[in-house]
Amino acid sequence: MSFDTILSFMKKALKALEGGHEPPEPVEVFEFMVVRGTTPGQLEALIEVVEVEHEVWSEHGVRARPALHPFVSERLGVYTLDPEIVGRLLGYPECCVRYFLDGHVRYDHEGPAVVTEGFVPCSRTCEGAVRARLLDPEPDVEAYREVERELEGELGDLPRYHTEYRGYYEYHGVGP
Ligand SMILES: [Zn+2]
Repeated sequence: MSFDTILSFMKKALKALEGGHEPPEPVEVFEFMVVRGTTPGQLEALIEVVEVEHEVWSEHGVRARPALHPFVSERLGVYTLDPEIVGRLLGYPECCVRYFLDGHVRYDHEGPAVVTEGFVPCSRTCEGAVRARLLDPEPDVEAYREVERELEGELGDLPRYHTEYRGYYEYHGVGP
């Protein structure tokens, strides 16, 4: 789950961009990249960024995965496309997509949790979100901070186009 589905999408999209392969689902994301004039070389660079994120995250063994670096998500249309399409790309559970579409566009639950930045779970303990590695209701906060520090060291020099971007994780109910 999680990075695997995103990486598999991106690798199939790379083959499709190079020609002779069907575009992967969600097709809308692929079309967005085509309209933006994304080249195979650019997509390869994006795949490398996600692989670094996947590696750093796996090494630390924390439950929730970090958000895609905005250098990647901007190119995939994460800030632009319909939430349902973006949810399919990023592996968001349907209960949480519905919750978001019902108007809960920010995290609004009581109690401790770490979520992947930008993801809004339908509850603090949503099982689908925990399984999808998007939510940790029993977080080891220091371990998450360490993942963020390491990612910042590896990927901190990449440009960020999205001004709302704050980090890789959101911390709720766990102190400053
Ligand atoms: Zn949910």
